[in-house]
This record gives sequence, structure tokens and C-alpha cells, in this order.
Amino acid sequence: MTREENVRFCDLVKSLRPLTGKGLSAGEQVAEVVSMLTKVPENRIGTAVDPAQASQETLRKMSSSDGSFTKKLANAIYECMDLGQFISQIDGAEPMTKQRIVDNLTEYGIKVNLNELGERCAKIALTVISRKAGQKMSPESVAARIAYARGIANNKDALLMQCAGLCTECGSSLITDKHGDGIPVYEILPIDSDVSSYGFDDFVVMCPTCAAKYKHHPRKSDIDRVRSEKKAVSKQRDFEGLLTPLNLEKELVQLLDDIRELGFEDTSHQQIQMRNPVPIRDKVSEDGELCREITDSVSSYYPFIAARMKMLEETHRLSFNELLSQMHAKYLKYEGQGLSQAEIFDQLSDWIADRTHSRSRTASILVSYFVQICEVFRAPAQ
Ligand SMILES: [Zn+2]
Repeated sequence: MTREENVRFCDLVKSLRPLTGKGLSAGEQVAEVVSMLTKVPENRIGTAVDPAQASQETLRKMSSSDGSFTKKLANAIYECMDLGQFISQIDGAEPMTKQRIVDNLTEYGIKVNLNELGERCAKIALTVISRKAGQKMSPESVAARIAYARGIANNKDALLMQCAGLCTECGSSLITDKHGDGIPVYEILPIDSDVSSYGFDDFVVMCPTCAAKYKHHPRKSDIDRVRSEKKAVSKQRDFEGLLTPLNLEKELVQLLDDIRELGFEDTSHQQIQMRNPVPIRDKVSEDGELCREITDSVSSYYPFIAARMKMLEETHRLSFNELLSQMHAKYLKYEGQGLSQAEIFDQLSDWIADRTHSRSRTASILVSYFVQICEVFRAPAQ
């Protein structure tokens, strides 16, 4: 038995407490870890095979012993496990939080390096859950699942950006327009499942129909065809220039229109609740005029934009997070090219204005918001 096999699910939950938050009850912490581990498909939500349906009582008991972890629940989790998502969430934690998880795992006899924390936790989860579910997995198949999940965690955002919201195989939209909510429905699958590690070029994004057809034993000719289709797609589409692959453009256009139409009296006298109170002057230190412009925009428009962004985040979580990561990626790219802060600011404003056909001045108000929430520009390290 490897050391991972001796760790109980409740031990993993306890180890992850620095991430799931101390404010939760023991049962809620179990529920939180289950939700980190799963992505429940639409047709399972609220049914008997939805892991989120586990009773409070079961969850509470599961927090101290694996005896109450039933085969039925293990199966429900196993069936919709998304280890890539799980690894991403651990990757995204603050370094301090990760270090505390590492320390916790050490107490259970697991020595983990900080940089492999995500996959090691995924391995513990997969080992416990597959065993509870009665799924026999060889060490090789566990290693393959973890390598795949790591590949997804590293490449998901870029893959979704590349496919631009369209199925690579049939070209149909990956957005189902459910009452205007625009829920993305897609699968990211390995082009060739016979590899041992997965990079950006080893995945393809497809609609569920094409994915179902493709994933069962694709022939060599299918694999070659999909690889070249993927290459063609990247060439064709200016995926650098895309604002959002998943339908957020419409909402941003509306937002920018509304900003432009806001009267002065609508924006003054508002209480500003800052999401991230790093002073703008610390982030925009090299250009006094730019600093003033951003400060003015933020003090006038922050509450309005923040409220709208919160709505977008709730209704279009995936696209919203992608918008943030694209904004951040663009910023890092320009910064890496050695542009000044003013040049970066103008480039970002022009980019948004261009994609949304809005005025650059209006778009710059939105960029100021991104400066305030620290997606663009950063304060020097202390
Ligand atoms: Zn398709």
C-alpha cells in the first residue's frame, strides 16, 4: 500500500480546512470538498445520483470517520468527478494556505512538496473514492487519471479561448441558450488517450455529441484528423484578440452603453465598498496623470460596475472568470513587452473598445475597474 491509500477521506477534508474555511461546520466542510471534487451534469442535479443530495447527518458523520461514507455516495461522486477542477482550486489558493495544507498532510504521514500539492490531494481523493465505490483502479490508471487532470488544470482557460466557444469537430456553438443564461456545454478530451502527460496540444474541445462519438477508441486516422483540425482552428481565429469566447461580449457592450449614459448625479455621493483596498497610487506609481485618471474613474463608477460585475459573475461564472484571466494575461503580456503603465492602460482600453465597438474613453473606465480589483497592475512586493 502506498501512503496515499492509508489516508481516509475525513483526513483529507481536515487537511483541506485552511482552504475550505474555518467558518464552516464539520458537515459543511465535507460538502465543500465534495463540491470541489465534482461537476454535476445538468440532468443529475437534484436526483438521487447528485452527490450534493447527501444528508446533513451523513456529511456530519463523514467528517470524523469513513464508516459513514456509503458506496452509493462514493459512486455518485465517482461518476461526476472533475479532478482537473479540484487541482485548479488547490493551485489557486494563497501560498500560505497551501503551506498549511502541506503541514496538515504531514501529520497523516504524507510528505508533499508545495508544487505538487494539487495532484497529491487529487490522488488521495481518487484512491479513497474509487475504493469506496468498488471501482478497481490499478496504480497505472490512477497515475493516468491524475496526469490528465493536471493537464486540464493547466490548460483549460487557454483551450476554451482557442476554441472560441465552438466545437472543434462540427463547429456548433458550445453555448446552450437556456432562458438567455448562455450555459456553456462542452467537453475537453484528450486527442490521443495513449499518452502519459498532457499539454495544450493534446486536448480538444468538443460539443457533447461529437465528444461521445470521438472518445471511444478513435482510430489513428481520426486522431490525425482532429490534430490537424485543431491546428487549422488556431490559425484561422485570432484567439489573442478575442475578448471572451463564451458570450460575454453582449453583456459588456450593454455595460459600456450604460456607463456612457450614466448621469453625473447618478455616480456621485455613493458609498464605495472596495473589494481590494490596495491604494491605486501604490499600483500606478510611475505616472501621476494616469493615477489621477484611474482614481477618478474608480471613485465615480466603482459601485455601479462592481454591482454589474457581481451579476455577471453569478449568471456567467465561467465566462466571467475567463474575462478576468484574459484581462490579467493581456496585462502580463504587455508588461513583459516592457510597455509603460500608460501604454498598457491605453492598449487594454483600445482592445476592449475595439471588441465591443465602444468609445475608448468608456472602455478605459472599465479598465480602471480592473486596476482597482488588481487584475491589471500590481503593487510592488513589500
Ligand atoms: Zn460538435
